[in-house]
Amino acid sequence: MPKLPPPKLSPEERARASAAGVIARRERSLIKEQISQGSISIFEAVNDPRESIQRMRVVELLTAVPGIGLKRATLLMERISISPSRRIAGLGDKQLQALRRELSVNKSELNAGALLVMSGPGGVGKSTITSLLRDHPSFWISISATTRAPRENERHGHDYFFLDDQKFDSMIQGNEFLEWAEFAGARYGTPREPVQQWRNLGKHVLLEIEIAGARQVRAADPQALLVFIAPPSWEELVARLTSRGTDSAERRAARLALAQEEMAASVEFDHILINSQVEEVAAQLLSLATAHRVE
Ligand code: 5GP
Repeated sequence: MPKLPPPKLSPEERARASAAGVIARRERSLIKEQISQGSISIFEAVNDPRESIQRMRVVELLTAVPGIGLKRATLLMERISISPSRRIAGLGDKQLQALRRELSVNKSELNAGALLVMSGPGGVGKSTITSLLRDHPSFWISISATTRAPRENERHGHDYFFLDDQKFDSMIQGNEFLEWAEFAGARYGTPREPVQQWRNLGKHVLLEIEIAGARQVRAADPQALLVFIAPPSWEELVARLTSRGTDSAERRAARLALAQEEMAASVEFDHILINSQVEEVAAQLLSLATAHRVE
């Protein structure tokens, strides 16, 4: 194909492009400085959604790490098949995983993601908080397995893995759950492997699970961060729980009794966040996860 001449820019367009270039360069040099000072890991930089960072070459990022010069960075990339011109945005999950493995000798510079467990009474708004964090580049939201039937709008592999009893049993047998519990006549469990994989890639992993499961996670991993979401007041929770007109009186009473039991467990958690405003709770979860260094 014949090579096209570069587009002609008007003086204003040229000025805008050069201003954007200056900002992008400044953002890139700032992030490299943070990596070299050890205040962020290269995996945190990889999760930075800004275009200026995503367009950075991997080699530039690696050479910002103390102790990694151009020679070592080139060798390292060769060994894990990352082409010398590869940009951050073009890194695949497998390459990131390999990079983390390669750099694990240098553990002090790399941070595994935190494991966050979020529980709270039904109706408190956990799923809205989760959906806010779903698109955040620092988080991965665990997808549970369950034996309950899918609700309308729920998709297999997105909201849950909907399994039959036999498959759920075989996953228990195979020790494939980090935790599992029974709730309202169905079984729910967190598949173990993806949690570890995503944490190794530097993502904070969020589990939205009920209280018996949260206790199991605490026992399995004492470094997990347990966060309880509480309503602004008991009255408000009662109002939310009883507003569903379709429930019978017994069903409403059962929901309230369960909520009371769940509220009583809040003292076992590391943090209690009051859900007055979902955006605020999501931001608090992010700062808790970021501040939580995993040894
Ligand atoms: P739902 O059926 O309304 O989606 O969820 C019912 C309850 O099960 C909620 O409290 C939810 O947090 C909890 N849950 C969802 N997934 C899991 C899981 O993997 N493990 C445990 N222990 N609870 C879960």
